[in-house]
Amino acid sequence: MELTKISENNYYFSSSINVGYVHEGQSGLLIDAGLDAQAMKKIIKQLKENNLPLTHLFITHAHADHYGGAAFLQKQQSVYTIAPKFEEAILRYPLLEPLYLFQGTKPLKTMRTKFLEGAPITIDEVVEEGQVRCGEIQLTCLAFPGHSEYQLGVISNGYLYAADSYFGMEALHKHKIPYVVDVDDTLKSLQRLLQLSCKGAVPGHGAFEETFYQTVAANIIYHEHILKEMEELLTRHDEGLSQEELIYHMCEFYEIEVSTIASWMLFRTAITAYATKLVKDEKATFLVKKAALWIQST
Ligand SMILES: [Zn+2]
Repeated sequence: MELTKISENNYYFSSSINVGYVHEGQSGLLIDAGLDAQAMKKIIKQLKENNLPLTHLFITHAHADHYGGAAFLQKQQSVYTIAPKFEEAILRYPLLEPLYLFQGTKPLKTMRTKFLEGAPITIDEVVEEGQVRCGEIQLTCLAFPGHSEYQLGVISNGYLYAADSYFGMEALHKHKIPYVVDVDDTLKSLQRLLQLSCKGAVPGHGAFEETFYQTVAANIIYHEHILKEMEELLTRHDEGLSQEELIYHMCEFYEIEVSTIASWMLFRTAITAYATKLVKDEKATFLVKKAALWIQST
């Protein structure tokens, strides 16, 4: 959690989970809140040491690694909290994330970790794409759905805080199959990023880059490669694969060792999102046989 300056008023706390910071006059805005109270303590300490104000908090999307530190901040001081529509529901009722990952069944205790469920927070303002004022700070919010239903990225002074609309290459190769809920939306958001004219961007996971367009283009190629692998895998199994076999084969191909129930659930969601894209493109179909969900090449 090291405070890194990218322009006169733009900063970010660089970590495996980045947190943005923008400062203007008496106003100070955090973009996301880190994983937990420990991360937030480090953020508050560094802002104090540098005499930087903290008046506003913007949460880009309702994944616990991005909002888990927010409840601690709200307990420490008053902070005007802004969140995107839809995502705000999960921020107020964080059980929703482990609940949907566990397919709507009330999740096991092992699913209810700080990585999947943060403490609930208060939201002062629900926003959509467009202009948002945070005291003296002017923001342009852009919808980047795909990784979550209504993720918003934020532009301030020409710098983009991109949330998880794209990943740094190291993060992408570490996860191997990135978490997505809709591949069409993910690809559209990436194309949109390529059209933006920004001085630089900070992704949720990865380093600030002025030349982030190359990384965005590499993300597009990466997703297309996963789709192609899945398509070929299904062609090799002409009676189709059950959803669980598909998960097994994809994880085997990408050399992913899935060691916990929670991480299996995350991969199931992502792999099912890629399969859904093939179904939408009429390259595969879903069917039910032997009391299981199957995916078959068309
Ligand atoms: Zn995320």
